[in-house]
Amino acid sequence: MDEREGMGRRAIARCDVLGAPPYSLAVDRLDRPFLTSAHAAAGAIIGGWMTEAGLTTRIDPIGNLIGRLGPKDAPALIIGSHIDSVRDAGRYDGPLGVMIGVECAQALHRRGRPLPFALEVVAFGDEEGSRFPVSMMGSRGMTAPLPLEQLELTDAEGISVAEALTAFGLDPVRVNDAVRGPGEVLAYVEPHIEQGPALEAAGLALGVVTAIVGQARLRVRFKGVAGHAGATPMPLRHDALAAAAEAVLAVERVCAAGPVDLVGTVGRLLTPIAAYNVILGEAEIGVDVRAAADSTRDAAAAAIRREIEALAERRGVAVEIEVAQALPACPCDAHLVDLMEAAVASVGVSPLRLVSGAGHDAMVLARIAPVAMLFIRCAGGISHNPAEHASAADADLACRAMLAFIDRLAEEHA
Ligand SMILES: [Zn+2]
Repeated sequence: MDEREGMGRRAIARCDVLGAPPYSLAVDRLDRPFLTSAHAAAGAIIGGWMTEAGLTTRIDPIGNLIGRLGPKDAPALIIGSHIDSVRDAGRYDGPLGVMIGVECAQALHRRGRPLPFALEVVAFGDEEGSRFPVSMMGSRGMTAPLPLEQLELTDAEGISVAEALTAFGLDPVRVNDAVRGPGEVLAYVEPHIEQGPALEAAGLALGVVTAIVGQARLRVRFKGVAGHAGATPMPLRHDALAAAAEAVLAVERVCAAGPVDLVGTVGRLLTPIAAYNVILGEAEIGVDVRAAADSTRDAAAAAIRREIEALAERRGVAVEIEVAQALPACPCDAHLVDLMEAAVASVGVSPLRLVSGAGHDAMVLARIAPVAMLFIRCAGGISHNPAEHASAADADLACRAMLAFIDRLAEEHA
């Protein structure tokens, strides 16, 4: 087996190792939340792989594992992703990006020719937010001081972030020492499985991400008049659930009529009671709207709002619409996107540009450095599911494209 062919196979095999105890808290599924024994065990074995690859390792004050190659004071190109997981996770969401980073470091270390910048491989401890009620603590803690009250947030067992950091061997008082200084990060690149079906549909192993979508969440509450299901004639009803149902279809209609990157979902429908014989007086839906450009998303959210207000008025139902969350879209750096596109083409894959519908650490790192992302095809577009799968051949192409990207960046900085 030639060393290059082996990169993808080893990256995948290592993700598979990380899919079982002690790297998972559960025996029959993959659960690896932030600052748990499974996280510590994963950090220990990945740290060993990093050392083998020639990287010098450390754990930063917020629990991120960092492996570094190259001059001490030089700005670093960071290849990173997360090693925490959702509950009952797949094995590749996060860890594959870290394993690809380790493979790149090993290849560069073996080659022995120094880069004009440092290389860091970072395994973020928290991206998914599966333990505490906030997410991306690892990358947020690296880019800006964490709000102090977040250290007091507790998990389901009442353990605070500060207590969990202490149990992990870290000092919560020092947590903000994890913040990187200005100029320390040259660029951030994240290889990640696509978590959607576009690459598979196009018959391509790799894709170049141009932007991570922005998200708007609307909480919509309908207030009609509760009534007897038998005794109230149809024209006299003010049915809150029927209004909510019509609103769900309005969201679907508005977003289906927009550009392909515009998506809208209602995955949350709440009613105070569930009964066969009651016309419901109250109903609430949660609307999630995403698009590559904030202007597209905001226009869709406004159109949805108008449609909902109109249908509520027609039905004689009161409606209250509240913005529950608005995260701006994060464009990838145009120049790095071009470099990545050339790198992907150089390994024989026709480069497809696509937007990421899911959030990633890259959107946080974008606050301090230019970012790029490389997507790797995943079978059936399935993710956050134990059936998640990426192939060794595709992972190998990703390693080679990443190395080509690093070489191109190195040429520019020579
Ligand atoms: Zn992920």
